[in-house]
Amino acid sequence: SPIIVWFRRDLRLSDHPALWAAMSSGRPVLPVFICDRLVEQLGAAPKWRLGLGAEHLSGSLKDIGSRLILRKGDPAEVLRALIEETGADTVYWSRAYDPDSVERDKAVKAALKDDGIAAESHLGHLMFEPWTVETGTGGYYKVFTPYWKNVRDRDVPQPLGRVSSLEAPASWPESDDLEDWGLADDMRRGADVVRPFVQLGEDAAQDRLAHFIEDIVDDYDTLRDLPSEDGTSCLSENLALGEISPRQCWHAAARKQHEGSKGAETFMKELAWREFAYHLIWHTPQIATENWREEWSAFPWNEKENDEVRAWKQGRTGIQFVDAAMRELYVTGRMHNRARMIVASYLTKHLLTHWKIGQKWFEDCLIDWDPASNAMGWQWSAGSGPDATPYFRVFNPVTQLDKFDKQRNYVSRWIAEGRGNPHEDALKYFDAVPVSWNLSPDDDYPNAIVSADAGRKRALDAYENRDF
Ligand code: FAD
Repeated sequence: SPIIVWFRRDLRLSDHPALWAAMSSGRPVLPVFICDRLVEQLGAAPKWRLGLGAEHLSGSLKDIGSRLILRKGDPAEVLRALIEETGADTVYWSRAYDPDSVERDKAVKAALKDDGIAAESHLGHLMFEPWTVETGTGGYYKVFTPYWKNVRDRDVPQPLGRVSSLEAPASWPESDDLEDWGLADDMRRGADVVRPFVQLGEDAAQDRLAHFIEDIVDDYDTLRDLPSEDGTSCLSENLALGEISPRQCWHAAARKQHEGSKGAETFMKELAWREFAYHLIWHTPQIATENWREEWSAFPWNEKENDEVRAWKQGRTGIQFVDAAMRELYVTGRMHNRARMIVASYLTKHLLTHWKIGQKWFEDCLIDWDPASNAMGWQWSAGSGPDATPYFRVFNPVTQLDKFDKQRNYVSRWIAEGRGNPHEDALKYFDAVPVSWNLSPDDDYPNAIVSADAGRKRALDAYENRDF
């Protein structure tokens, strides 16, 4: 009888342990993708990007003579129906670690078990299972450096090959039409603008990795902090949806590291930051929704969508680094890491606004949205997280520009107002944003809503006067 492989955030055929195991069994394999509540509740950009990814995977499976069966509904019910229709008695998937997925998967496993169906989860999204990385006293890590020391010399298994054929079931069950799910609906006119920046699917991800390893990684240490440079891998988009596996990236870098590339080692360390984010969200799931350091609940955060928050979202704060970054986000669905730290610091410190508002906006706009890295990144920036930057370390968005965008290439790529001959990417912003925002490249560039110095003072005063 067939084995169902339930694809979620693992949209690839290579180095896919669950799919590999199904193929190796010699039994028919039924690849399935389910539009469940977790898919429906995604933000606009990640939901749209997931739809593109699923469509692409469907094509890849067709190329090897298989199919991706699409169904909508509660996963336990969908799987039960498919089991009844096809006589399958086993379901495989790649393990997920964020609280919503964990809760769902537990429920599905229990429901299938009641029916006598074997549900088997496999490692695939990570290199290091969160519970296998332990401190000397058997606890979990709250600080990255010792975590890194623990994992950096581990033996990461070599990636598995690409599945090139799958036994088909005797007959294929019916499949939904992806378009009927409306995964692109919330993107509205943004989709046409963001689409050219997307690098879709497994082959594109492998090309991205190869280009990075050949041409960039040796200079990664010097370029990775400069948002106007092509100095990072941009693989987060593909890692988020499992179009490439972390160990494929790890081993490609490890080969360079053995040849003495310092940049390759730094890149491996960044991959470990992603693992660390999952380590944290696994051990302390509240990191996704609550101040990790509870005392921060007493801090007088603004939690309203006021004019300052709107200006931040629209890239109209009058602070160039912040505005350039927020527009890059809207146009490309991505944002450079340095810029993420700057906009997060500006929102939580200069604008004294709760990190949850920023977390939610990123969740709506990022095509590389990742529940663990986004939560960790926001709590790190706000000072409320583990191993976080202390609140009194307020990034100065003006001096940061002098340091990381000396030639102003980044700001001139993304800001159109007040420039005689704006960059074509800066103009794309006005095609992407909702018409109701009423923005035009001919507007004046705004004065700072909260200046670098005044905001810093306001943030430090609030911190001094806090009652914890
Ligand atoms: P590279 O520099 O090429 O790094 C390689 C890979 O390492 C990345 O693809 C990513 O998987 C991992 N990595 C690098 N830096 C980090 C980091 N600080 N934390 C966790 N993993 C890291 N990353 C996401 O993937 N999704 C998010 O939703 C997300 N939200 C963030 C929010 C905030 C406020 C901050 C400060 C950071 C956030 N990050 C997030 C982390 C980081 O900014 C991105 O992973 C990085 O910019 C991706 O670009 P890249 O692929 O070119 O990275």
